[in-house]
Amino acid sequence: MKSWPSPSIPNLPGRAPRVLVRDTATGSQLPAAQGDTATVYVCGITPYDATHMGHAATYVTFDLLGRVLRDSGVAVSFVQNITDIDDPLLERAARDGLDWRDLAVREIDLFREDMQALAVIAPDAYLGAVECIPGFIAPIEALVARGAAYPVAASDARLEGACDYYFDVTSDPTFGSVGHYDDATMLALSAERGGDPDRAGKRGPLDPLLWRAARIGEPEWDGASLGPGRPGWHIECACIAMDRLGIPIDVQGGGSDLIFPHHEMSASHAKVLAQEETFARAYVHQGMVGLDGEKMSKSKGNLVLVSALRRSGTDPMAIRLALLEHHHLDDWMWTDEVLEQGVQRLRRWREALAAGRGPDADQTVREIRVALAEDLDSPRALAAVDRWACRALRDGGTDPDASRLLRSAVDALLGIRL
Ligand code: ZN
Repeated sequence: MKSWPSPSIPNLPGRAPRVLVRDTATGSQLPAAQGDTATVYVCGITPYDATHMGHAATYVTFDLLGRVLRDSGVAVSFVQNITDIDDPLLERAARDGLDWRDLAVREIDLFREDMQALAVIAPDAYLGAVECIPGFIAPIEALVARGAAYPVAASDARLEGACDYYFDVTSDPTFGSVGHYDDATMLALSAERGGDPDRAGKRGPLDPLLWRAARIGEPEWDGASLGPGRPGWHIECACIAMDRLGIPIDVQGGGSDLIFPHHEMSASHAKVLAQEETFARAYVHQGMVGLDGEKMSKSKGNLVLVSALRRSGTDPMAIRLALLEHHHLDDWMWTDEVLEQGVQRLRRWREALAAGRGPDADQTVREIRVALAEDLDSPRALAAVDRWACRALRDGGTDPDASRLLRSAVDALLGIRL
């Protein structure tokens, strides 16, 4: 899948310290990279609607991670998927009278434009589920052969006697170790987030779908011994991460609504397949962005779209600043005031740089680096730049190199082009 053009990143003198991130599974701050290259997998969109602020917050957060890792001297191998076949996409296409492929192409194009406008560095591999389906079959067959997956008769399938395939969560002795939720919570989240705990014939209610036998009117692909059908969601990410990065990966990322079932299940699939105890060394989750007191979500329809703001003339750098104003661990509400603060901050920073000369910026650059290396503390990094801008506007300065350094650091580390 084509990604989008990456922004160019200025080189800075010096380095960020070792980057730590908060790991959801252990609750502790852990190194984001073990060696010279960090392997990072971030779950992508299901392309049935345009990029809203919740998505934008997630991808900007992991963009920050990539930027500070590179600045610390670590290379980054970054993979992202697109769930370009799934029930919500088919349902939305049917509702709107569109071909599901056309809907996906349209929304993926818009997502690329949004990411480029927000100066998000493109993934090294950007992969659609559909183009990867042939690579999912053998792993699912291997799970079946190992007794970790099993068929459930699908009476409404296109072919008589066809079966759906489910993963047996008890095959992973460490199942539950990502989210640490109790059974009642897992059952509720499964029902809410695409699972089918009430499906008859499953060994356990939490067992997730690996392969769905072809139904009349639904797209289908060759599934070899599984029969024609289409893949479940979690196995996609497990297979792509294993294939492209190898496990254990350093960081598995996404919104906090992916902790369960998605990240729990992907991790279990991969651990059982690879006979490894660890899928990701750190699970990093972005808090939810809400609107009017509720989580922003497609199902609720309360979305603020990046593309709509862009069309209305909002500078994407102001949107990025509005997102960076919040720590990635926090849930927060999008308001007009939040955006206005981003607009004002951008204006102030640009004014401070307009003179071409400013006060010394070395300490400010250090503060940005330290803040980001300590679990991507973007509000603290912005505050450091605010103080520099305040000094520059109040006292002026004589050093043209300081202004140049500050401009490059804000670009390289925060992704804000001034
Ligand atoms: Zn995923």
